[in-house]
Amino acid sequence: MDCIFCKIIKGEIPSTKLYEDDEFIVIKDVNPQAPVHLLAIPKEHFASVAELDDERAVVVGKMIKKLAEIAKEKGLDDGFRIITNKGKHGCQSVAHLHLHLLGGRQLDEKMG
Ligand code: AMP
Repeated sequence: MDCIFCKIIKGEIPSTKLYEDDEFIVIKDVNPQAPVHLLAIPKEHFASVAELDDERAVVVGKMIKKLAEIAKEKGLDDGFRIITNKGKHGCQSVAHLHLHLLGGRQLDEKMG
């Protein structure tokens, strides 16, 4: 499958990995939009939150928990944002579910 995140997970494309377990990885975004911009990516390929089932939702919950822990380790005590994009209107550019962690500066109040 021609998926850039699957290739990163398999080690076929380099990435800066901050965390890995059996279910997901956390890497640095290659085009950071904030001083801290990380991506949590499940190892199972599925496109977006629209494809969640109960099992996948548990993994996504663990991804959120891990990102919050990393945010604490990185000293983002003034706050941060965790988001996921879905489809064209959501500006999703990689069709493999991922969560963005953004922080380290004042983020925009407007969400869209
Ligand atoms: P989205 O627009 O929500 O689908 O986010 C995709 C994100 O993946 C963007 O923020 C990209 O900068 C990021 N990205 C694309 N290719 C890579 C890569 N090879 N390594 C790390 N991040 C990437």
